[in-house]
Amino acid sequence: MDLSLDTPVRYVPHIGPVMADRLSILEIFTVQDLLYHVPFRYDDFSLVSPIARVKPGETVTVNATIESIKNIFTKTGKRIQEAKVTDESGALTVIWFNQIYLVKILHPGDRVHLSGNIGFFGNKLVMTSPQYEIITDNGGASLHTGRLVPVYPETEGVSSKWLRGRIAHILENILLVDFLPQEIIKNNNLISLSAALQSVHFPKNNGEIETGRHRIAFDEVFLLQLRAYEQKRAWQQTQKAKKIQPVNIPHIPFVLTGDQNRAIAEILTDLQKSIPMNRLLVGDVGSGKTVVAATAMFAAYKSGLKSLLMAPTQILAEQHFKTISELLAPHGISIGLVTGNTKTDGDILIGTHALLSKPHKNIGLVVVDEQHRFGVGQRAILIGDDKKNTPHFLTMTATPIPRTMAKTILRSIDISVLTQMPKGRQVIKTWVVSPEKRSRAYEWIKKQPGQIFIICPLIEESETLTEIRSVKEEFKKIQQIFPDVSVGLLHGKMKPKEKTKALDDFRNKETQILVATPVVEVGIDIANATMMVIEGADRFGLGQLHQLRGRVGRGTLQSYCLLFTQSTEEKAIERLKSLETIHNGPELAEVDLRLRGPGEVFGTRQHGVPHLKIAKFTDMETVNETQHALMTITNLDPTLEKFPLLRDIAKKDIIESVSKD
Ligand code: ADP
Ligand code: MG
Repeated sequence: MDLSLDTPVRYVPHIGPVMADRLSILEIFTVQDLLYHVPFRYDDFSLVSPIARVKPGETVTVNATIESIKNIFTKTGKRIQEAKVTDESGALTVIWFNQIYLVKILHPGDRVHLSGNIGFFGNKLVMTSPQYEIITDNGGASLHTGRLVPVYPETEGVSSKWLRGRIAHILENILLVDFLPQEIIKNNNLISLSAALQSVHFPKNNGEIETGRHRIAFDEVFLLQLRAYEQKRAWQQTQKAKKIQPVNIPHIPFVLTGDQNRAIAEILTDLQKSIPMNRLLVGDVGSGKTVVAATAMFAAYKSGLKSLLMAPTQILAEQHFKTISELLAPHGISIGLVTGNTKTDGDILIGTHALLSKPHKNIGLVVVDEQHRFGVGQRAILIGDDKKNTPHFLTMTATPIPRTMAKTILRSIDISVLTQMPKGRQVIKTWVVSPEKRSRAYEWIKKQPGQIFIICPLIEESETLTEIRSVKEEFKKIQQIFPDVSVGLLHGKMKPKEKTKALDDFRNKETQILVATPVVEVGIDIANATMMVIEGADRFGLGQLHQLRGRVGRGTLQSYCLLFTQSTEEKAIERLKSLETIHNGPELAEVDLRLRGPGEVFGTRQHGVPHLKIAKFTDMETVNETQHALMTITNLDPTLEKFPLLRDIAKKDIIESVSKD
């Protein structure tokens, strides 16, 4: 059978169903997956030496003949395999440990390549635990010795040695068609795809590793951008939206920031078109995204269309309902609230996922608060299959998008950014508190005016029983530490009414302290809260901590954020300490991205951040090169007519095709 990239690995010679099963643990399902299973390092066995010249401390390869080989079982229970090998220049002792089957594989008279370290055993020069490769008469390239030898991520029953053999076989037998157009390859000094894969797996020297990996990294980023481009193009071509005339809300009770005005202008421009808007509004907590969204909804109303605003939690839906009502009800607009236990109608509907339980008519605009909770599938429910009336989409998020990511995966979306803060916001003084300073910190907290949030450690992504238990324990502990004030409790497993009450009590100052789980988090806006205490702060991403911190500092009093940690790890503390000096979300996100990588920061699965094998989102140079390359093609040929291979790849879904999550 001919091998192609889509061939399932079990049909590859010498793999079969059993090995295919094991490979699936490494997320390897097809020939393509196997070819892109890249080494994480290379052992340098390229120094080939006559036996007489080997020196202690060297890593060398010798070409020798086995004179004898035997198992030695020591009194202390060790199992040693000892071989004597010779070449024309001399003799050498070779030992392995715990590989008793070796005597069945290597026989006296066999010619072998042996690659390993030279050391002393007693006072004798020996080679210890070398890689071996039997030299057969028909030769063949050596894979495991005498060269730069690739070492792969392994799993039970799948060794690097075995992987080398299979990958070499595939590379010899597959016809790889290069999907990159020649001019891109030339203009970017790339090598061909087959040369790149050959170099990544079996490089002749370190330079080849570099050029090979560069080509593969280029592909990864380029293909992401290509798919984002195609998504946007397809979206704009097939969907039709109703046009909305630009109008502003009269009499807003504060002066909008320059950024708010710019974002509003960008949105109102989009809304006038029959191409549905697909825009992301990125703004740090407190930057005032709500009023921007409210303006868009106001314009939709004036054009005779309904709007939906969807929030991730009931608490946030209720809060949006309150603020939007204050802003828009005076203009004669009716606002409805749709949650698990309330359903009222209106020109604007604000709610939770409950909004999705039935299709809505005459929708001109959908606003989603915090996009990562809102999947592609849910968007499809809202849009339905009425391609003549796709609502305009506005997504709001406080999660800053690092520049590199914005330029790659998010290119299918337009972005407006709020970086300025409304006037009068003060810096929230932030301190990392070590265990020994904890009791002093509590004493200090008692003397401060203003209400206090206490956030429990992040244990799991979703709220589990452990987390509920821990928040209840924290609640009791806090009641003991602060016996003179009333303490409230808020977690996700409480009934909706209890949650609303807990929050209302806090808002009305009936409770002075609110102990909450992290998922209840964000969005809540309480002006008198001036203290944010976060337990187990090291478990959070910097972006999350920054968002939590943004819950305070909304009023006029000086606000504080205390980051409690049990960690004594220098790196963890240093990471937390960046919150003491950096007060800007995007900058913190870049720091986090650098320290922890995109998987940790964005949680690849939930956020649909594709998994990159070689490329890095922080590699701005490659991101720029690929973007430029894509533009040169698409400017001339927007539908990729002349590049059918690219067009096919472009049509695959970004996330589905890149990760097998
Ligand atoms: P977020 O971007 O975090 O959703 P909000 O929209 O909730 O922020 O705004 C936070 C607070 O700031 C609200 O109380 C809002 O009324 C207020 N606000 C928004 N814009 C301004 C502004 N330009 N000047 C003063 N206050 C503002
Ligand atoms: Mg908000």
